[in-house]
Amino acid sequence: MSRAKFGFLGAVAISAAVFASAAPASKAWAQHAPDPNAAYPPFKIGEGLYYVGAADYASYLIVTKAGLIVIDGGDAPTGTQVVKNIKTLGFDPRRIRILLNTHQHFDHAAGLAEVKRAAAADVKFYASAADGAIVAAGGKGDPLLKGARFEYEPVMPDVTVKDGDEVSLGGWTLTAHITGGHTQGCTTWTFPVTVAGKVRQALDLCSASVLAGYKLGKTETYPSQTADYQHSFAFWRSQPCEVFIASHGQFFNLHAKRAALDAGKADAFVDPSGCQAFVTQAEAAFRAELKKQNP
Ligand SMILES: [Zn+2]
Repeated sequence: MSRAKFGFLGAVAISAAVFASAAPASKAWAQHAPDPNAAYPPFKIGEGLYYVGAADYASYLIVTKAGLIVIDGGDAPTGTQVVKNIKTLGFDPRRIRILLNTHQHFDHAAGLAEVKRAAAADVKFYASAADGAIVAAGGKGDPLLKGARFEYEPVMPDVTVKDGDEVSLGGWTLTAHITGGHTQGCTTWTFPVTVAGKVRQALDLCSASVLAGYKLGKTETYPSQTADYQHSFAFWRSQPCEVFIASHGQFFNLHAKRAALDAGKADAFVDPSGCQAFVTQAEAAFRAELKKQNP
């Protein structure tokens, strides 16, 4: 009951907190995604790469010749949509053989259980050590977000990924990058994908947001959180990030790019400058918060 009653409120609270430090994005989000769990029609981003998430809580499908890969389950209501969206696209969820996660917060991990139920019997869930432990505990153990409204159906990781680990299936290889700060084990995934006839580097950015209530600098929400953020910003800046995708649609202007794609711009999601601009803005917000807390 607690999830049904508070799940959406939790989502709003989180989104509001996320954007307290990024005003322009907040405005954009308020304009087009009042319900981050609203159903959203699935579509193709590049060859073998599809968007199968909700209006804001993102989820991606990768179609390989050896089976399917899904990144993130979204919130619990997103999870059922992910399964439905995969069917709508004409693929069989029972062919999902790999489940990946950007981070353990409920809006990216609560739907994993539903996706796993629909997947192949031998599906493997890959997660970082720090975030995997919290997904295994159904959201319990987060240093900031405590209480029933942030909890969800647990999923046990089958494989723990470290920074630089590769996950391969059917000719695809995705690389895990531990980009901590937003969560300790926040994982950014990179992989090559063909878009409009050209091989591009895709980057699924975990999250760069500083949640309201996070402590940075001398006192930290978790040990080394400030250094983790700094490492993550340096990493994201170093990447080509040609196909910019992320755990939330509003991070990469999902709706505007989808509209451009529908209008005939086949490479609408190729946006390296938008990626860099997002990282620059998020880093400025982080630095401002760090300075505010450590005058
Ligand atoms: Zn989060």
